[in-house]
Amino acid sequence: IRWSEDKGWHDAKITARATLTVDPATAVLHYAQEIFEGLKAYRHDDGSVALFRPEANAARFRDSARRMAMPELPDELFIGSIEALVKADADWFPAIDGGSLYLRPFMIASEVFLGVKPAAEYLFMVLASSAGSYWKGGVRPVSLWVSHEYSRAGAGGTGAAKCGGNYATSLVAQQEAIRRGCDQVVFLDAAERRWIEELGGMNIFFVFDDGSIQTPPLTGTILPGITRDSILRLARDAGLTVREELYSIDQWRADAESGRLTESFACGTAAVVTPIGQVSGPDYGFTIGSGGTGQTTQRFLDALTAIQRGRAPDPHGWLHAIG
Ligand code: PMP
Repeated sequence: IRWSEDKGWHDAKITARATLTVDPATAVLHYAQEIFEGLKAYRHDDGSVALFRPEANAARFRDSARRMAMPELPDELFIGSIEALVKADADWFPAIDGGSLYLRPFMIASEVFLGVKPAAEYLFMVLASSAGSYWKGGVRPVSLWVSHEYSRAGAGGTGAAKCGGNYATSLVAQQEAIRRGCDQVVFLDAAERRWIEELGGMNIFFVFDDGSIQTPPLTGTILPGITRDSILRLARDAGLTVREELYSIDQWRADAESGRLTESFACGTAAVVTPIGQVSGPDYGFTIGSGGTGQTTQRFLDALTAIQRGRAPDPHGWLHAIG
């Protein structure tokens, strides 16, 4: 779907995937005026297909658009485009157990000019890609590298938006994490370099020996994850004590070492819930619990995937049937 100042949203179409030809002066190539989303469609045992919380992705996409001085795509067009694409791709939609269809809606500034200003033309697209089961060989705890040198976003920045620029800034830290032998990077806040924020592409949760759980608050520098929000609701439904409060790297280490903290996990659309086994920094390293997958972590993974796959009741109306 295209957008221009004179026509608004127009020219919606579905085409086979093809190369995009762009002028070298296309605005997005220079100033990264781009936003995206990620969500999944699941095939249920009865053959039906459902999206998981697309309304939440549509709302976040509008929030991201506002932050990046882009036009807001109405929710009907966002969800309608995805529905039309999933229907068109129904034939190769993964029927295999554990598979899903990953959907990547995104919008780029498509106007051709070299000045620094919001573009007057945009292109919204959705890519569909078959995703196998993330945990095929069973759930595996990941190791994290705490980045003390690089931050992902600061106050007043674009941390809460899902824009390509945030990921560009996180790559060097992710590269460092891999070089240090870890799976993923965890970012601290930009101001004090002390408060745990999120991973490169996932939010983070902490589980304590009194059964309570905690996650960093939405202070404007982290992405308001839809999986994070779903876990908070499931936890409150289950009567758990839930805190959305700052947690420092020093406290995390002390609590893991004393046994007060029993589990930590990351969450996001791709893997849903990922246990954290080891945490390392420049001059320290500690193990979370026994280094394996904790009970609470496994329970959230099972509960959420059961809802997504239509194998458990959906009390919050998170499933959006396509049919
Ligand atoms: N934080 C970041 C930086 C992410 O890229 C993602 C993935 N979208 C998340 C958190 C998790 O968000 P969600 O649960 O909506 O996938």
